[in-house]
Amino acid sequence: MRPLIAGNWKMNGRTDWTDRPVAFDSLLPSRERTSVEILICPPFTLISNLVEAAKGTDIQIGAQNCHANEAGAHTGEISAEMLADLGAAYIIVGHSERRAAGESSDDVSLKAQAAFRAGLTPIICVGETLEEREAGSAKEIVSAQISGSIPENPNKFVIAYEPVWAIGTGRVAEVGDIAQMHEHIREQVGPAVRLLYGGSVKPGNAGDILATPNVNGALIGGASLKAEDLAAIARQAL
Ligand code: PEP
Repeated sequence: MRPLIAGNWKMNGRTDWTDRPVAFDSLLPSRERTSVEILICPPFTLISNLVEAAKGTDIQIGAQNCHANEAGAHTGEISAEMLADLGAAYIIVGHSERRAAGESSDDVSLKAQAAFRAGLTPIICVGETLEEREAGSAKEIVSAQISGSIPENPNKFVIAYEPVWAIGTGRVAEVGDIAQMHEHIREQVGPAVRLLYGGSVKPGNAGDILATPNVNGALIGGASLKAEDLAAIARQAL
């Protein structure tokens, strides 16, 4: 399965970051370009600029969220169709920072459905908190999030396993724990779904993580802000 290296810029970046995908692309030798799928998910405000800037490169651009509806009286929201119109290819849905703000798996499922409706691929994020892991219920929590977040009759989707306690903290899950969780998720979703790991992935730990069975790529926050780091991670995805 072709690995997917996806950068989540979160709420970072201004228009003077528009050249970063091109800088990143130029750091990748041609082998990585064809063997690894690369995605950058900037804030909504930069999608248009980055889609334009990434033309002629192998970098795809995605979004970090969408509304479940196509259009209507939803002040401040953005639909999957609007993102498709801008040239986005993927939408991250159910990131733990959004779940923490009140998004339920039902909401995530509706957003994933919206992505399908607009012809985009959702990256459905799941992951347990530290308390849930320490209580021994990590697998149960993740399974429930997955079954609640995948719409009925889904099109192509990606799952990102991101233990909440590893996101933006510098703490990385043990490779053995990642292997166990990814095997568990694989049993639930089958062989065709790409499974990403996310949580403080950096150039120094990416090699071991990406070599773990059933890990088909990574979702990267902090390290995706630097073109050199993202390229160094992508090089280890082969
Ligand atoms: C993320 O935002 O999905 C993430 C994994 O962040 P970080 O790599 O900074 O932990």
